[in-house]
Amino acid sequence: MTNPIVGVLAIQGDFAEHRHAIEQAGARSVEIRHLSDLDGIDALIIPGGESTTINKFDDAFGGKVFDTINAYARGGMPIYGTCMGSIVLAKQIESTTQRSMGLMNITVRRNAYGPQKKSFETMLAIKELGAEPYPAVFIRAPQIVSAGSDVTVMATINDTIAMARQGNLLVTTFHPEITDDLRVHEYFLAMIRDASQSCTAATPNLSMVR
Ligand code: GLN
Repeated sequence: MTNPIVGVLAIQGDFAEHRHAIEQAGARSVEIRHLSDLDGIDALIIPGGESTTINKFDDAFGGKVFDTINAYARGGMPIYGTCMGSIVLAKQIESTTQRSMGLMNITVRRNAYGPQKKSFETMLAIKELGAEPYPAVFIRAPQIVSAGSDVTVMATINDTIAMARQGNLLVTTFHPEITDDLRVHEYFLAMIRDASQSCTAATPNLSMVR
């Protein structure tokens, strides 16, 4: 696979910035606005935004949006969730009845740093990305407060998790797409290339959701 096609969920949030970053890293990208757009992509990015909004959107479609993405993830498709994306991928969201896709073995605490004006940037050590610290931008970010033993913690901040991976799933509570540093998107692209070598295709069983 030379130039994988990465779908970016374009219902809400900063999908344009993710498209730009993943293309700069060497992939092609498409916007995902309909469930049928998921056919034929090699990987998916779920951008930052507002998780309650995406929940309402999923409700309006009877839960089919989450169910379909869930089926692709279980079929092995690499999925990267940023901030809001990490919330919807989580198995558990603290103190809420809000639904999620329940895919990644993590518990998240929404808006853990306070409101928008408490947004901040800090340098994080992420050894998988090299020796140079990574400029991580946190915007009304969640914290990942716990993770199962099947989750690899890649970065921490104040004793909570800021970046983690579980097999084909990657999450960051910060926003690499709004910096010029492409290393997180390059890392995701390497995951996509590895996945394409270890299995022929991300083939979901969609019979349940169609
Ligand atoms: N605070 C948002 C939520 O809880 C996430 C913010 C973001 O994605 N930048 O859904």
